[in-house]
Amino acid sequence: MRLLKRILIWTGGLLLVLLATATILYLIYVRPFMQNMKKVSIIQYDKELTLVLGGGGNSGILTSDSLVIVIDTKMDDAAKQLNKMVRDLAGKKPILVINTHDHPDHSKGNVLYKGYPIIAGGNYTKESWIKDAGEESLPTQWLKDRMDIHMGDETVTLLNLGRNTHTPSDVVVYLHKRKMLFCGDVVLNKQAPVLIGKADADGYMAAFDMLPKVFEIQKIVPGHGAVGGPEIIGDFRQYFIDMKTAAADDSKKDELVAKYKDWWQIPLAMSPGATISYYKKKSETR
Ligand SMILES: [Zn+2]
Repeated sequence: MRLLKRILIWTGGLLLVLLATATILYLIYVRPFMQNMKKVSIIQYDKELTLVLGGGGNSGILTSDSLVIVIDTKMDDAAKQLNKMVRDLAGKKPILVINTHDHPDHSKGNVLYKGYPIIAGGNYTKESWIKDAGEESLPTQWLKDRMDIHMGDETVTLLNLGRNTHTPSDVVVYLHKRKMLFCGDVVLNKQAPVLIGKADADGYMAAFDMLPKVFEIQKIVPGHGAVGGPEIIGDFRQYFIDMKTAAADDSKKDELVAKYKDWWQIPLAMSPGATISYYKKKSETR
């Protein structure tokens, strides 16, 4: 009996400690991150291009005399706000939706564009999309490799990265005249990546090397975080290199992790520690 009592006390104590830790982590990391993610900021970049940042993934609305393109449709209230902006700008013009990938914070708002074409990467299948993102947001067209759309004096190129990167079929969108690249979550600005499911760090590295060769980039719209120059790719690339180094050499870990202390992160899921664990697991399975 005495042993049972002791086990119960220990188990109860342990549960309390775990609960307290989870609450503290939630209050310090998750809640501020979620609150920040809900914030929407609108940048009227030029007469035809509006950037709608936050409220899920970053979005863009590009207009011309004949077409309105929307890149990523956000989620929840921000998706409705974006949809209203798109419809107001479009009037009677056709709307074309592009999804950089299937995560709900970028694609859940698709449901508000019923009857309009929605393009996403062709490495997903209908079944995989439904499983990961739900049936309501299903695209209508799957992009195998590349598509060029001419609208007004702008040419818009959609490129399917075609291999596991952030997801199995990330699409980037390049505006030639503006030399601007919408990267989806293949590039984040001051935010640690989530490397789960089919996410592949080798795919990210290949993209960081390939994108500046294929496109002349002056402006980057990352999947999350502020708009900036090509240095955003360089900084995010360096993060992967640093975390790989930290995974291989424990003595360098603290210093390398500290470099990213001002980045948005959630312990165990979206953080330098989580990326290091990812690299350790990856090297074990090789
Ligand atoms: Zn994502």
